[in-house]
Amino acid sequence: MFRSRFMEVRVRYAPSPTGLQHIGGIRTALFNYFFARANGGKFILRVEDTDRERYSDESLDDLYSTLDWLGIKWDEGPVVGGPYGPYIQSERFDLYKEYAEKLVDMGKAYYCFCTPERLEEVRKQQVESKSEYQGYDRHCAHLSDSEIKEYLRQGIKPVIRLRVPTEGKTTFHDILMGDITRRNRDVSPDPILLKSDGFPTYHLANVVDDHLMHITHIMRAQEWIPSGPLHVLLYEAFGWEVPQYCHLPMVMGKDGQKLSKRHGSTAVRDFRAKGYLPEAILNYVTLVGWSLDGSTEFFSKEALEKCFTMEGIHKSPAVFDYKKLDWFNGQYIRQCDDKRLAELITPYLEEAGYVSSPLSEADKNLIAQIVPPVKERMKVLSDVVPLTSFLFRDVPVEDKATYIAKGSDEENTKEALIEGSEILLAGLKNGKAESEIEEDLVALSQKLGIKVNGVFQPIRVAITNSTVSLPLFDSIRLLGIEETENRLKRAERLFEEK
Ligand code: GLU
Ligand code: ZN
Repeated sequence: MFRSRFMEVRVRYAPSPTGLQHIGGIRTALFNYFFARANGGKFILRVEDTDRERYSDESLDDLYSTLDWLGIKWDEGPVVGGPYGPYIQSERFDLYKEYAEKLVDMGKAYYCFCTPERLEEVRKQQVESKSEYQGYDRHCAHLSDSEIKEYLRQGIKPVIRLRVPTEGKTTFHDILMGDITRRNRDVSPDPILLKSDGFPTYHLANVVDDHLMHITHIMRAQEWIPSGPLHVLLYEAFGWEVPQYCHLPMVMGKDGQKLSKRHGSTAVRDFRAKGYLPEAILNYVTLVGWSLDGSTEFFSKEALEKCFTMEGIHKSPAVFDYKKLDWFNGQYIRQCDDKRLAELITPYLEEAGYVSSPLSEADKNLIAQIVPPVKERMKVLSDVVPLTSFLFRDVPVEDKATYIAKGSDEENTKEALIEGSEILLAGLKNGKAESEIEEDLVALSQKLGIKVNGVFQPIRVAITNSTVSLPLFDSIRLLGIEETENRLKRAERLFEEK
């Protein structure tokens, strides 16, 4: 697959800092990163910030912090530098100008002095006459030297346009999609490479940089396929070797539409805030459009750094399933050691105002006790707040219906609370085993002729003020017997009121 087996693999992630890093973007980053690692190559980060209007500092910070959080280190790029820097395009503008002018000297590109008004006129006429030919009319393609001099003398600043052949076809090979061929006449006619203010367009900067940075494989989103023929024409114009292309399958939502905000949050920052672990994101997102053997699901970063292959990338669109990510995240939470998990949940408890910041000794102890039971229940770290709110905020449930389990009624629920509390509290005070107390409660449900939940639900709601909560005995342990008793009595009173 490699042009030479001695050639070092060099790949890049080349985002434009015009928005937050999203699932699709980091999927591209991860594929490139793992491919580089697995082949003993280099992973390069390049910031494509030629679009200064859409640029934002926030996006750039988000890029760095997201890759950092995922533990993705780049071998060359901003901050770390490297032999082919700078790696931020806005710091390379002189270079693009130099290369665009080289093409002019070689006759592969030319100056165009057309005014915006003229171009608009041309466009209008094409629309009106329903001309098959749309786009720039190559008015300046064959200006004489003296005409050019005259324009320049008048102080008109030209753009530089690539001379796209009007005949023939251009083919580029994509490792996944095979050969992709397009008629040259269908490639945008003589696109601008350098704008009149000296700024490069995306295509020029992208190709010049991939060449100068010795990129061997271009793995990027499929939406760039239409740009492929133009890029190949550019490489050919320069007389450069074309890198290998591998356009990645689209990332879709479950409904088969391109993944977007309509499906839910797509910004990695939002996932992070909700309490997804970096290893879960990294694992699951790498499986969106890639597999090793069609069945292995759990991969650590270290494993992927060894086993990632380009052959495992799927051709067909890939589905990003939020539920599956939740499942992965839950699995990774359960694998976390308790100490790390305590640190991970602390910010959520602090933000909820449940503990003080910095933590007191009592808070630390409580958090250490909270960890084992919540570990089994959380899908995302922020779940710790609803799961433990009963410990910190005592807001009793006053709606009787919440206590009444399916298939039970008010009368039986009242009985379950009164008799159940007695069984529970006596058992706890006498040091009875939890399993035995549980059996006694089950026996009570049989006596009342209701389902097991008819007894457990009201007790749980009374103690935890909620229907979603930790296991009963864990809750009691955290709350203490005295407070448990208070809450059970309070619920009994609610049912005794008429
Ligand atoms: N800057 C482009 C983007 O944001 C990168 C395209 C490429 O990888 O060639 O998607
Ligand atoms: Zn022109």
